[in-house]
Amino acid sequence: MRPDAGPAPVAAVSVTVRAGLETYEVRIGAGLLGRLGELCDRPATQALVVSDENVASWYLERVMAGLEAAGMRSAAMVLPPGEQTKSPVVLAALYDRLYDLGAGRHDTVVALGGGVIGDLAGYAAATFQRGLRLVQAPTTLLAMVDAAVGGKVAVDFREGKNYLGTFYQPALVVEDPDALATLPEREVHGGWAEIVKHGLLAGGVTLALTEAGVADKARPDPRLLEADVRFKAAVVGRDPRETTGVRAMLNFGHTVGHAIEVAGGFARYSHGEAVGLGLRAALWLSERLTGLDAAAAGRGQRLLSAAGLPERLTGVAAADVARLIGRDKKAAAGAARFVLLEEVGRPATGVVVPPELQSEVVAWLIGR
Ligand code: ADP
Ligand code: ZN
Repeated sequence: MRPDAGPAPVAAVSVTVRAGLETYEVRIGAGLLGRLGELCDRPATQALVVSDENVASWYLERVMAGLEAAGMRSAAMVLPPGEQTKSPVVLAALYDRLYDLGAGRHDTVVALGGGVIGDLAGYAAATFQRGLRLVQAPTTLLAMVDAAVGGKVAVDFREGKNYLGTFYQPALVVEDPDALATLPEREVHGGWAEIVKHGLLAGGVTLALTEAGVADKARPDPRLLEADVRFKAAVVGRDPRETTGVRAMLNFGHTVGHAIEVAGGFARYSHGEAVGLGLRAALWLSERLTGLDAAAAGRGQRLLSAAGLPERLTGVAAADVARLIGRDKKAAAGAARFVLLEEVGRPATGVVVPPELQSEVVAWLIGR
């Protein structure tokens, strides 16, 4: 090696996200967490790394070392894990910290963690002084394939999940598949619900990679991560602020999924497990309402099983689920609108499902 040779070039796949006037890169590659500073390329500015206790215990040190090596002054704020952290109270503590650091608009907030940290730190970055630079460094599978791409940031308020939020695109997203090695199994399954959703919506190579990927769920092929990020980026690119209706397709499996999540008090089923059941319901309804052929529906159901998602609905009352379906935040004027499939890779949005069929599909989820 020549003495003046700099560090080896960063080996990573790059996916460009174009959201309105903003453009940013999602870099995917093993070992990237340690090279975040280099990727940020903002010497002589400061960074606040926001993380949770679990993630920080594994990955904070390497991230801080990389930032310092790149000449960035860095501080960390480590929060308790869990949804309760996504609150206005914790948000205020984050503002305090940024204020005390004297952070300004050229400085960077690094969100190192799952969806909770990405949403919270993202919202703080979006609003502090009308916007600091945001770098998303997702460490859960769910956040890598879904939450970290697309610019939705929020905290919960009273009963409302993501009630205070906005759209704020990051400057950069860094995805290091090595971080998935320590992810608890339940979180792996949660990520797979969204991966299966993307696969069924996208069809083609994305679906093929998804079907191949279930053999090793905890260590997804980087090509699968890339395909999922590309799919999400394409949808977001056509509807950056959820106004054109294109983004609505991402609600596939979520109308029934959310109802199940709420009916189970957010304890019986995780988001991913509930969405897995919601996807089963959506496939069943697609066969009856939008002409999905039985073979394709069966393919989807088998994929959900192979992904380790629940086979049937247990431990919640059917009547509660049926009642909650119409109450979905995205239901237009009381009528539940569903995303269904005409075929794999061809979603139909805004499908009205008659109430009796809504009850029938819940009964099927319990009895299957
Ligand atoms: P999601 O991305 O599913 O919204 P959260 O931010 O709630 O996830 O994170 C889920 C849980 O997984 C939290 O307890 C978090 O601390 C933990 N976690 C996140 N990433 C990792 C990781 N790479 N290794 C181990 N635990 C992790
Ligand atoms: Zn989801």
